[in-house]
Amino acid sequence: MSPPRPALPKFGTDWDSLGARMRALGEGDADWRSARTAVYIFNAGEDVLSVAKEAYAMYQSENGLGPLAFPSLKRMEEEVIGIGLGLLAGPEGACGNLTSGGSESILMAVKTCRDQAAAAGRTVVGARVVVPVSAHLAFDKACHYLGLEIVRVPLAEDRRADPGAMAEAVDANTLMLVGSAPCFPYGLIDPIEALSDLAQDRGLWLHVDACVGGYFAPFARMNGVDLPGFDFSLPGVASISADLHKYGYAAKGASTIFHRSEAQRAFQGFESGDWPGGHMKTPTAAGTRPGGAIASAWAVLHYLGEEGYREKARIVCETRARMMDAINALPDLRTYGEPQLGLFLYGSETLDTFQIYGRMLARGWFSGVVTEPRAIHQMLSPAHADVVDEYLEDLEAAVAEVRGGGLDTTPVSARYS
Ligand SMILES: *Cc1c(COP(=O)(O)O)cnc(C)c1O
Repeated sequence: MSPPRPALPKFGTDWDSLGARMRALGEGDADWRSARTAVYIFNAGEDVLSVAKEAYAMYQSENGLGPLAFPSLKRMEEEVIGIGLGLLAGPEGACGNLTSGGSESILMAVKTCRDQAAAAGRTVVGARVVVPVSAHLAFDKACHYLGLEIVRVPLAEDRRADPGAMAEAVDANTLMLVGSAPCFPYGLIDPIEALSDLAQDRGLWLHVDACVGGYFAPFARMNGVDLPGFDFSLPGVASISADLHKYGYAAKGASTIFHRSEAQRAFQGFESGDWPGGHMKTPTAAGTRPGGAIASAWAVLHYLGEEGYREKARIVCETRARMMDAINALPDLRTYGEPQLGLFLYGSETLDTFQIYGRMLARGWFSGVVTEPRAIHQMLSPAHADVVDEYLEDLEAAVAEVRGGGLDTTPVSARYS
C-alpha cells in the first residue's frame, strides 16, 4: 500500500512549532555547516552566509519581472552584470542577464544562438551543438528542449577538450561549439583559445561554460595562478555562463548569462501580447524573477569585493593543493590531472574507489563521484580549510578498512541525486 498522500492541514500551526519541525527534518541532511559536503554547497563562512540570507530576505517579495515597479532590482541586476563583464573582459557593448541558475543560463545561450541562426535563414531543426564529453548535461537538456542535436566529442589525453576532434565533428549544420572553464567532472579549463580560433574559422558560436569558474578563475588569476585564456578577451567567444550561486557565494537561484553584443542578445528575449493580459516581455526563460536572488547576489559581490574574493580563492586553491599533496602521499591513493581551481578528483587503482567513497559517506563526508576514471569528486569551499586534517584522518581510516576487506554494507551508487 502506498503511504497516505500528504494533505494541507485544516488549521494553521504557529511558526515556532513549524520552525522546530523543519529543523528536525534537516537533521538527516548532509552536514554542510561543518564543511562536510564537497558538492551542492559553497560555504564562504558565517558572515557571507548571513549577508546572502539577509539580502535575500530584504527583497524576497519583490519581483524582477516588473522593472517599472522595482527599479531597485533593475539597478542591482545592471550592476551585477557590469561587475561580471568586468571580471570576464567583456568588450564595449557586451551585455547580459541574471538567470535562475547555470542550466537556465546555458538554455538561454543555446536558444539565442539557435534563433540568431534561424533569423539568418539557416535550418535549425536538428542542427548540431558540438561539445566535449566533459561538458555539463545542461547542454543535452537545452538541445532536447530546443530541437537540436548534441554531439559529445571525446577528450584529449589530458582530459581537456580536443579541438582537432571537435573540428572533425563540425558539419555544415553545426551552430555552436562549447568549452568549459572549468568542466565540472575534472575541474580543468578546456583549451578555449584553440576553440575560439576554430569558431572564428568556421563561423560558429562559441559558448564558454564558466558556471563553476566564472566567479573564481578571475580571482585565482589575480592571485598569480597561471590560467589559460577563457573569457571575452578571446575574439571567438560569443557567450559565457557564470553562476553566482556557486563561487559567487550568493543565495541559490542566481546565475549570469553574458553576450558579446546587444545584437546577439536580441535573440534571447521573448515578447508577445497575444492574450488579454497585456503585452509581456521577458529577457530570459523566467516569468516571475525572485528579487531575493538578485539582491543576494548584489549584496555578496559588494560585501566581499575584489579583495574578499581573492582571499577566498586563495584559501580554496591552497586547501586544494594541500589535500592533493596529502592524498598523493597516502598509499593506494592518487589524484587525477592538474586542476588549478577549486575542484579535484582522487581515487585508487589498487582498491575499489567507490568503497572508499562509501566509507567516507558513512563518516559523514558527502561529495560527488566521477565514473571515468572511478573517482571521488571534491568541490571545495573556503570552509574546507578548517577540516582538512579531520578529513584526511577519516580518509586514512576509510582506506585501511577497504584494504582490510570485510563486508561493506554501505549502499554506494554512482548517482548522488
Ligand atoms: C553547476 C554547473 C552547471 C549547471 O548549473 P545549475 O546552477 O546547477 O543549473 C553547468 N555547468 C557547469 C560547469 C556547472 O558546474
